[in-house]
Amino acid sequence: MNRLEERILKDGVVKEGNVLKVDSFLNHQMDIDLFNEMGKEFKRRFDGKPINKILTVEASGIGIACIVAQHFGVPVVFAKKAKSINLDGKMYVAEVESFTHKCKNQIIVSQKFLNETDHVLIIDDFLANGCALQGLLQIVQSAGATVEGIGIAIEKGYQPGGKMIRNLGYQLESLAIVEEMDWQTGKIVFKEQ
Ligand code: 5GP
Repeated sequence: MNRLEERILKDGVVKEGNVLKVDSFLNHQMDIDLFNEMGKEFKRRFDGKPINKILTVEASGIGIACIVAQHFGVPVVFAKKAKSINLDGKMYVAEVESFTHKCKNQIIVSQKFLNETDHVLIIDDFLANGCALQGLLQIVQSAGATVEGIGIAIEKGYQPGGKMIRNLGYQLESLAIVEEMDWQTGKIVFKEQ
């Protein structure tokens, strides 16, 4: 069992409605030492790939992406969720359905920060139905950039996102894959990796 899995068992809380709450170490309060371990592991799994940029989506992907980026020595670009007055010029836009908030968002990246010369590693905290990833993949495609891989902290393996993304041929690496969880007993089972 890796450190992230151990931490999920220790501090993760299974909520009704198929939500794993990990806000004490991953996506509200953030354990940077753990993120650093995760960064090291992603660097090992994507070793040798010509990655020159990390792409994530606000808000909870940003912290992880920044620490991972230090291991690759590359910048992070995050897709913004609402049109802000600070965004100017041409933009790539994709529509994403939010798993946790049950609403549709547009995610936006300025064309200044992604183009056909880029080799991208996509990073996010969770993979469930794969909507967030599909949006990010669409943005990379619009830019004509290359996806070198996808790194996820926690994949809920019983939801369809992981299979769908792997079937598209991407190297998808999830540090913890939850195979089963039960909010009534609190039980969490990981896939052996
Ligand atoms: P997807 O688009 O793959 O269905 O869901 C991915 C996004 O939904 C992630 O970026 C994450 O913010 C959120 N998410 C999905 N499942 C969970 C969950 O069980 N717990 C938490 N905290 N976030 C989740």
